Amino acid sequence: MEQTLDQVDVVVAGAGVVGLAVARALAQSGREVLVLEAAGAIGTGTSSRNSEVIHAGLYYPTGSLKARLCVQGRDMLYGYCAERGVNHRRCGKLLVATSEAQMPKLHAIAAQAAANGVHDLQWLSRDQARALEPALECVAALLSPSTGIIDSHGLMLALQGDLENAGGQVVFNTAVAHPVVVPQGIEVEAVDRASQSSTRLLVRTFVNAAGLSAPALARQIEGLDSRHVPTAHYAKGSYFSLAGRAPFSRLIYPMPEGGGLGVHLTLDLGGQARFGPDAEWLTGVSTDTLDYTVNPARGDAFYAEVRRYWPGLRDGALLPAYSGVRPKISGRDEPAADFVIQGPADHGVSGLVNLFGIESPGLTSCLAIGEQVRHVLALEVGK
Ligand SMILES: Cc1cc2nc3c(=O)[nH]c(=O)nc-3n(C[C@H](O)[C@H](O)[C@H](O)COP(=O)(O)OP(=O)(O)OC[C@H]3O[C@@H](n4cnc5c(N)ncnc54)[C@H](O)[C@@H]3O)c2cc1C
Repeated sequence: MEQTLDQVDVVVAGAGVVGLAVARALAQSGREVLVLEAAGAIGTGTSSRNSEVIHAGLYYPTGSLKARLCVQGRDMLYGYCAERGVNHRRCGKLLVATSEAQMPKLHAIAAQAAANGVHDLQWLSRDQARALEPALECVAALLSPSTGIIDSHGLMLALQGDLENAGGQVVFNTAVAHPVVVPQGIEVEAVDRASQSSTRLLVRTFVNAAGLSAPALARQIEGLDSRHVPTAHYAKGSYFSLAGRAPFSRLIYPMPEGGGLGVHLTLDLGGQARFGPDAEWLTGVSTDTLDYTVNPARGDAFYAEVRRYWPGLRDGALLPAYSGVRPKISGRDEPAADFVIQGPADHGVSGLVNLFGIESPGLTSCLAIGEQVRHVLALEVGK
């Protein structure tokens, strides 16, 4: 049932870590910001289904948004965590080659990292690596001291707090639907999930930060040419936690493969280890039918992969934990796509920003993405 037409300066769809960071950046530049979130709380999507790693920025192609925003975002995030008391630890990670055949790949990653402005990597021989992590098996390793871990929920609470302090607000259980480009701006429908009643809002700026649903929401925008909307692909990643304590104090990553960074070992802030995520490409699903259940059978493949770098892993020690789904915009056999931060200069619609493909390192990059959205909007004359 249509009711009123209220005017709002900025509406952000989605209160994940990226939507909140963008909303905060815009609110702190004096804009009036409303975040509409379909779920009942912040960060119930991909933002609470990831590895919680602050990435250093090693892997991404030179000059890509992923490379630039990861390195910039990582520095911003460490500063922000210190300033706002967000729990985190700069624990470092070891990227390991487990056979001579993997050495060229390790060298290529070191070169890529240098091209991305990551200059603190240290080469370690097998013995040097084992002096740091005695349970590790490898041929050689790269130590990344600026990789860390973060309490992602604590981060989102801090971002929400900043947003509210700057006059912004998050409205829960409210989905954005049917945006329409009109001469005065963009009209969006705010649908109350409980009552299904809707309010139409006239907004000057609309930021689509709907994560996995961002392409579907963009496709609904009347007045946006559909050739600007990429096809969504979903790659599920399952995690298995370790029964008992892991004998590692740093994160351990094998060589990247198949749409992800390989079955790596990450630690949470309590020291609990988990392995994953693997990569399972999903077909014939929509965001409404995603199944986050972890299939215990997927753990079978983990043992062999993990034992390449940790031969001491005991049979039966891996327990199904949780899963996340990567919001991809490139398919299984295509090269990984970059982040897409699509503003008026790209699609010609004044006041509209679509965020597509914000997979890893989106958590690390969130503050830099906020700055980038501010920049993209500032390019528009009169905004
Ligand atoms: C398995 C996995 C591991 C990862 N590990 C890392 C890592 O270690 N480090 C790192 O930097 N990054 C990592 N990432 C990436 C990171 O988690 C994401 O980039 C980030 O969480 C994306 O945040 P978001 O706000 O864009 O999306 P989301 O967190 O998914 O938020 C989108 C929000 O939009 C809401 N929404 C959807 N449709 C609508 C609508 N129509 N109206 C209103 N609201 C709507 C949803 O309810 C949701 O809350 C990982 C991702 C995955 C999948």
